[in-house]
Amino acid sequence: MPAGAPREVGLDRALIAAYGHDDRVCAYAGLHALMDLSNGQALSKTGAVVLCDKEEIGSVGASGMESSFFENTVAELIDLQAKSARDIDVRRALERSQMLSADVCAASDPHFPDADSIGNEAKLDGGPCAIKYTGAATKSGASDARAEFVAEIRRTMDDAKVEWQMGELGRAEKGGGGTISKFMARFGMDVLDFGTPLLNMHAPWEIASKHDCYHTMKAYRAFFAR
Ligand SMILES: [Zn+2]
Repeated sequence: MPAGAPREVGLDRALIAAYGHDDRVCAYAGLHALMDLSNGQALSKTGAVVLCDKEEIGSVGASGMESSFFENTVAELIDLQAKSARDIDVRRALERSQMLSADVCAASDPHFPDADSIGNEAKLDGGPCAIKYTGAATKSGASDARAEFVAEIRRTMDDAKVEWQMGELGRAEKGGGGTISKFMARFGMDVLDFGTPLLNMHAPWEIASKHDCYHTMKAYRAFFAR
């Protein structure tokens, strides 16, 4: 890991350069949002922030999203409430859940315009980015969110005055990538990728905008409060 603390970048210090924004920036925003709400107001539904490891290597291992720890935790919660967690109860709870997959997205880099899907690229300082579908070579291996769920989230964000944007993970046939959303969507859960855009994603020093960090937290708070 590169040595050194995060530092401010830019004449107006609007940006933060740091190692490993991906994905501490979204993890922090998610946890902050949930703690804000659980301090002040009761949530109408059960809210959770799942912090999982190993995403960059395919979510494998006992602490990755391919494992059963989240399913098992939901079963344990139902068991504590109902005194017995039937398989169907766990399946129903998972299917009726909704999730924002809080992962970063690549912001357009003016040095490499040929890597962008022009007109669909996320912009640094444009607010957190919703990605309807991930995947490589357009949608291969994608998680593609349900259109009606995307519409619901758009309304939630607009009502909460979140400054947000839609984006894609790079030019078709060139860019692409995956997140953990597909591992949760397989339960029938509605999942949308929604996170902070980064310049230099996966480089030793990644750059995030303070404006985007703040609005990511605001977006997650609005999602929990729905
Ligand atoms: Zn990454």
